[in-house]
Amino acid sequence: MKFIRSSKCSLKFATASKLSELKRVLTEYGRVCNIFIESFWKNGTPSKSELLKEIVDLPQDTWLSARLRKVAAREAIDMIIAVRERWKDKPWKISMPVHKGKRAYVSCTIAELQDKETAEFDAWLHLQSIGEEIILDFPIKFHKHFNKLAIQGKRLNSYILTEKYVQLSFEIDVGDKKKGVNAIGVDTGIKALASLNNSQQYGLDTEACIERIKRCEHGSNGQKQARRAFKQRIDEVVQEIVKEFKHIDLVVVEALKNMNYKSKLKRRLSKSMRRSIGTWAYRYWLKRLEQACETNRVSFRTVAPFYTSQTCPSCGHVDRGNRVGQVFRCLKCGHAGNADVVGARNILTRFLTGLYGARYKPYELGFVQV
Ligand SMILES: [Zn+2]
Repeated sequence: MKFIRSSKCSLKFATASKLSELKRVLTEYGRVCNIFIESFWKNGTPSKSELLKEIVDLPQDTWLSARLRKVAAREAIDMIIAVRERWKDKPWKISMPVHKGKRAYVSCTIAELQDKETAEFDAWLHLQSIGEEIILDFPIKFHKHFNKLAIQGKRLNSYILTEKYVQLSFEIDVGDKKKGVNAIGVDTGIKALASLNNSQQYGLDTEACIERIKRCEHGSNGQKQARRAFKQRIDEVVQEIVKEFKHIDLVVVEALKNMNYKSKLKRRLSKSMRRSIGTWAYRYWLKRLEQACETNRVSFRTVAPFYTSQTCPSCGHVDRGNRVGQVFRCLKCGHAGNADVVGARNILTRFLTGLYGARYKPYELGFVQV
């Protein structure tokens, strides 16, 4: 199983003049990108393999090299494809994307990380073929995360360049996925970030983290700090769950689209308590959990999110009234338990009884019947 991980290295060790030169390049790159986008938007998007000279030469008043113009044309194509893909179910929402000139995706034709160790630095990021004979060299210091990836995987020749950092990518191969059949369901909530079908819960301080974010003024530094703290807490919770992974072969979560998740929360919480973990945090959490699965050769699957918090895991009765806050009590058979754990059990059952679940069985180590 192969996957890609990336790591950012700061460009802050460069001189101010180099950094302002980089900014100038990125701004021009963005402008050229937008010329391509406008043209492709009007006249149709070429395929990346048919970027002929006359297309690459389209922006006439630029000093960017043909090579970098080609990179910009490719990025323009990617941006158009991405926006169409994103809104493929709601085509009326599609509008022409705009490149902000803040970042560039470049390959080895433009950028190269050169291992030239000096007393102070570990390597140099060398940029060439930009245009106007500009050559830029940025001193780079490696860090723990970078070094870890460098040991685990093979560094790829693609770079994301911004004014502040360069992002480097690694391909990591951890071998085949585990072949066992132990499966767990994970429900995401506000009282506990993760509730497992075996009754274990993680991240019981989630609500406090979210309240801290909501208390801060929107967009303030305090709020940014609170968000960072929550992200860090999410990472810790993922690490706590990873400890279970030696017994687990499959993790099942709910695939929640924005709408579904918000509407689910509206139903779940009383009006005065209407709060959410937030879409960004939810996405971050699932991404981290999925990455942890990949690293540990654990399969990661999603199920559709309908009524997982209202369905009785014992008799199958579906009723909004089955759940009141954190308490689940089936109105038909009386089955009771923690509502999030019930949700996790339903998530797992949904997968196991679905098309692809047949070979798995629930992971029940430490299972407490509720
Ligand atoms: Zn029931």
